[in-house]
Amino acid sequence: MSERKTLEQLTDGELHISHSQISTYQNCSLKYFFRYVEGRKPESINISLPFGSSIHTSLATLYRGIKNHQVEPLEAITETFKTCLSLDLDSSDLPIIYSKTTPDKESAIAMGVKMLEVFYNTVNISDYEVVDVELPLSAPLYTYQGKSTDFKLVGIIDLLLKSPTGDLLVVDFKTASKSISQSAVNEDTQLTAYSYLLASNKLITSTSDIECQYCVLLKTKEPKVQQLNTTRTRSDRRRFAKIANVVLAAIDAKIFMPVQSWLCSSCDYSTVCKEW
Ligand code: SF4
Repeated sequence: MSERKTLEQLTDGELHISHSQISTYQNCSLKYFFRYVEGRKPESINISLPFGSSIHTSLATLYRGIKNHQVEPLEAITETFKTCLSLDLDSSDLPIIYSKTTPDKESAIAMGVKMLEVFYNTVNISDYEVVDVELPLSAPLYTYQGKSTDFKLVGIIDLLLKSPTGDLLVVDFKTASKSISQSAVNEDTQLTAYSYLLASNKLITSTSDIECQYCVLLKTKEPKVQQLNTTRTRSDRRRFAKIANVVLAAIDAKIFMPVQSWLCSSCDYSTVCKEW
């Protein structure tokens, strides 16, 4: 089931917002307008999207197996990747924008297989119990002062682990062409959104800190895996709620403008943006 369908089922027609919508608005409110207000079809698909989604599906297959005490062989994981990516690319009616590191379908498949091989052979989670994989959660969105709003926050946690001491660890898988800094992970609001959802669903207490991890599969010449840990606190969750409410207020006030940045080079609305 696609991520979008899962999130729609979570809300059953209620007003909702996801972290991805919030960060799209923060990065460029005009892009948010094209995608979520107009529901405009993208002009093209950047290879990083189907590539990342196929890596996610492959890792979900691996961890679902571990959860059911059945470790899938590496070949099954790489086959999942090849099938998902081929299906996505072959069924797309939009032009695919390839990158320097993956200039065509064959090189993208070869890169993904190499990355999964490195992941499979280096990442060891034998000390951890797999609590859930691709866990969909929703929760009422409160203001930072604790007042309820009409909106729900929705999200899907890639992987939830439990340490031998019983502490939860939220893992978010990423694919990237270069290393991610510790400060970027410390400031990342996606992990804070997950922490908010876990606290609201009473999987941790409202005052608890929670350990989170970015697990990054690097698309370098020799692929590597980077694991960066960070913590989210109650005050991080309150700050996130404040950001989410400010974004909702700005959307409600119809504030949409172009934000020129390095993200423009891979934006799937660049033609309509120029016409704006
Ligand atoms: S091209 Fe840049 S400014 Fe225009 S919508 Fe896309 S991200 Fe925003």
